[in-house]
Amino acid sequence: MTKFVYQCSNCGKRYQRDEVRYLCPLCSRDYRSGIPLIGVLSAQFDYGAIRRKFSKVKPDWNQFSAVEEKFYPPLPVGNTPFFKTAALGNELGFDNVWIKNDGLNPSASLKDRASFLVVAEANRLKEQTIVAASTGNAASALAAVCAAAGKRALIFVPENAPKAKLVQMILYGATVVPVRGTYDDAFRLSLEYNAKRGGLNRNTAYHPLTIEGKKTVGLEIWQQNHWRVPDAILVPTGDGVIISGVHKAFCDLKAAGLISRLPRLVCAQAEKSNAIHHYVESGIYENAAHPDTIADSISVSIPSNAHMARQAILESGGFSITVSDAEILEGQSTLAAKTGVFAEPACSAVVAALKKLRGSKRLGHSEQIVLLITGHGLKDVDAAMRGIHLPKAVEPTLAAVEVALKARAKKGAR
Ligand SMILES: [Zn+2]
Repeated sequence: MTKFVYQCSNCGKRYQRDEVRYLCPLCSRDYRSGIPLIGVLSAQFDYGAIRRKFSKVKPDWNQFSAVEEKFYPPLPVGNTPFFKTAALGNELGFDNVWIKNDGLNPSASLKDRASFLVVAEANRLKEQTIVAASTGNAASALAAVCAAAGKRALIFVPENAPKAKLVQMILYGATVVPVRGTYDDAFRLSLEYNAKRGGLNRNTAYHPLTIEGKKTVGLEIWQQNHWRVPDAILVPTGDGVIISGVHKAFCDLKAAGLISRLPRLVCAQAEKSNAIHHYVESGIYENAAHPDTIADSISVSIPSNAHMARQAILESGGFSITVSDAEILEGQSTLAAKTGVFAEPACSAVVAALKKLRGSKRLGHSEQIVLLITGHGLKDVDAAMRGIHLPKAVEPTLAAVEVALKARAKKGAR
């Protein structure tokens, strides 16, 4: 760990580590349920100390961590594969497309990174219960890390969360409370619970270390890319915390003098869950009225980290784009068929987005483009089923197989 202070992303006021726990006390006075969070904190490190000590020969990533290593939970997260995919690039019309497959984390999503650091913080603070509201992935991630660390996870989840995610949470031993309502209702409820009953809250952006945890994916991309900064990173965006975390990684590296430019961040949202997209395009914030999308992980009416996410996208020189559910399903199928990576609908949005950007000149044909895959497809098989037809069974004879294959070839199916 390197020494750090928290800085308010709204008013700029700085706080010592143990002076605050969640939001800036001054700015959050104006926060009320139904709007994005105000006064989200950002950890600002002693970048001079990092610059003096960091070595590419023997990189010590704990230097970028806001919690001491001795508090880390015993469940390794991160170090997921990063690789070039020529076949997908050719299909989408770009020369230099890379995948960071964070669906291969222990609970099968990038959210393990945030849960890891918040549970480390709970160890430091000697808090035994960690509370979260989530559409599914953050909660299954918290449940997994809590299981490894011997902590209690109390989870508020919208009742329509995909079953596989609920099953994960319960098997990991979490206390799961399905809520009749949206993610935003679950979010509010979890804050009310903490205020009355104590424990540590892991809500995304509300706890500043969720952003710090997620930034590790950006640090890894830099290392795996042989210490080069990619030209653009496409990020599936719901509440705006992952995109803020990726940006924070490269801002930290720049502040420490290790890189000289930032990657452009491309925010990919679902058409109806587009509050951040609209905010980036127009400068005016409005909740997404009906954020219905097949991509449950990025379905959100009131993105908690909208302000920081917009700033991250603009500062990076990036932009935002939306895709329809049909495009998302097509993206999921293209990604799986061309790369062998089965991603959940939310992150398939980046594949759909890249397809849409072909020929638009917003991304150069030979620029290095990274698609951030944030969750595994097996987490929501029901969604994937909507885009495919399962073949009927045949009699167990070769003749029957040949008839069936011929019929499929006629229809252009596999
Ligand atoms: Zn403030």
